[in-house]
Amino acid sequence: MLELDQVRAGYGAINVLWDVSLKAEAGKLTTIIGPNGAGKTTLLRAIMGLVPVTAGEIRLNGERLNGTPTWEMADHGIAMIPEGRMVFRDMSVEENLIMGAFHKSHRQHVKRRLEEAYEMFPRLRERRTQLAGSLSGGEAQMLAMARGLMSDPRLLIIDEPSLGLAPLIVNELFEILERLKAGGRTIVLVEQNTERAVAVADHVYLMQSGRVALSQSASEVQLQHLHDLYFAR
Ligand code: ATP
Repeated sequence: MLELDQVRAGYGAINVLWDVSLKAEAGKLTTIIGPNGAGKTTLLRAIMGLVPVTAGEIRLNGERLNGTPTWEMADHGIAMIPEGRMVFRDMSVEENLIMGAFHKSHRQHVKRRLEEAYEMFPRLRERRTQLAGSLSGGEAQMLAMARGLMSDPRLLIIDEPSLGLAPLIVNELFEILERLKAGGRTIVLVEQNTERAVAVADHVYLMQSGRVALSQSASEVQLQHLHDLYFAR
């Protein structure tokens, strides 16, 4: 469904991604792991049109995506949940969710989508009227995820959702990823929690210094080998 073919991208004169090729199959969860600075976030930003692609092609269902402005990504069924749980702190939980359905075509479905969000994240229903700024880290991450789902994306791109969360919350988060996957959504997940990411994934890419160092189906991955590659510099 989503394909990157020999993609180069970076920041001005600094190139970060070197001929990156990867595929995220429809209905599957593809995880991208790798050490700090490997270029994982830059890769997601390149897909979203937030970083210019200087060579290669990004395709969605066979159609070229390069050069598509970020604000049109929702029209293509893509939503990104960025790192850092960016929620509107001075708005209530429900207002944050409604912001996720900003697109005209999504507005008529707001009520149904809100109900679906509250079903998947019951804690958010309890905290519906509370200011997002008063949520715990785990709740804010759930809110960021739920908001991303309000546009009912076919492709969901999630950047480091478990970063800095307590182990119990991380468990909850991975259960939600399992459920999203079971619901048939295509997911691209960047994670630093390698073991959990591999356990939930269908396919695994390891990035090193802006390149793909390993591409394997999750069932073939040997964690020890992955760790050795991960820490090889
Ligand atoms: P992390 O796990 O730390 O988020 P990452 O794999 O997501 O790492 P990136 O954030 O994509 O890595 O960074 C890749 C490289 O790009 C790093 O060398 C970083 O310093 C550089 N970089 C990131 N953002 C910028 C920027 N805005 N301007 C210039 N260089 C940047």
